[in-house]
Amino acid sequence: MNLDNIRIVLVNTTHPGNIGGVARAMKNMGLSRLVLVAPLNYPHEQARWRAASAEDLLASAVVVDSVEEAIADCQFVVGTSARERRIPWPLLDPRQCAARIGSLSDREQVAVLFGREDRGLTNGELQQCNLHLNIPTSDAYSSLNLAMAVQIVCYELRMLLVQGELAADEDAQWDTPFATVENMERFYVHLEETLTELEFLDPAAPRQLMARLRRLYGRVRLDEMELNILRGILTETHKWVARGHAARDMVK
Ligand code: SAH
Repeated sequence: MNLDNIRIVLVNTTHPGNIGGVARAMKNMGLSRLVLVAPLNYPHEQARWRAASAEDLLASAVVVDSVEEAIADCQFVVGTSARERRIPWPLLDPRQCAARIGSLSDREQVAVLFGREDRGLTNGELQQCNLHLNIPTSDAYSSLNLAMAVQIVCYELRMLLVQGELAADEDAQWDTPFATVENMERFYVHLEETLTELEFLDPAAPRQLMARLRRLYGRVRLDEMELNILRGILTETHKWVARGHAARDMVK
């Protein structure tokens, strides 16, 4: 397990105190990579105050404008959420999730996304994730304070490191690197264009088609070679459709 390959990404955090609390939670557990997506009030005295002796982690935090930027080079992304979403996604608790990302972190860049204090992560953001993490809570109140949620996730990673027990790692034997978020996003654009061209996808009534396809590909995880094969198929499909149109135009 390599905690340096696991980044904690905070999306649009409102309260700077929470950012400080997250820095402290991470440093206590030995994580060091904090990424802030467009924080609302930052830098701020309250962040430094809550960070206590983890100010160095704040100093090295990377601030970016978008989630895409924060995770572009990652091969595996986890989204945390207090709520059930419309389309169910593969869902783990923090312990199961630590086992999964702990072993991946030896070779891959992993991100764990945390949402806004008032409304969490958007459906679009959650649909960029390979799996979702939910911290079990009482039904009476399921939403934890942001820094406390980060604490629990980081603690489970720490426990795994301390115990040195990693879950059986199927992915370790793989012969080709897994695709990055950036390349998967390009693929989804290409796929959507092609499905629209085939009139399989109606842009006026897209339903949840792309969300379901994202869930499918996120669940199996494509390696770079498989991704190239699928893009090749899309490119050829596009040519066939274009040829079909040209032939029809000639007949007219
Ligand atoms: N009302 C929001 C809660 C936001 S709490 C919602 O329904 O999603 C702020 C962030 O803390 C969440 O986006 C998530 O990243 C994390 N968090 C809070 N409670 C959580 C829980 N029970 N399981 C997983 N993450 C949680």
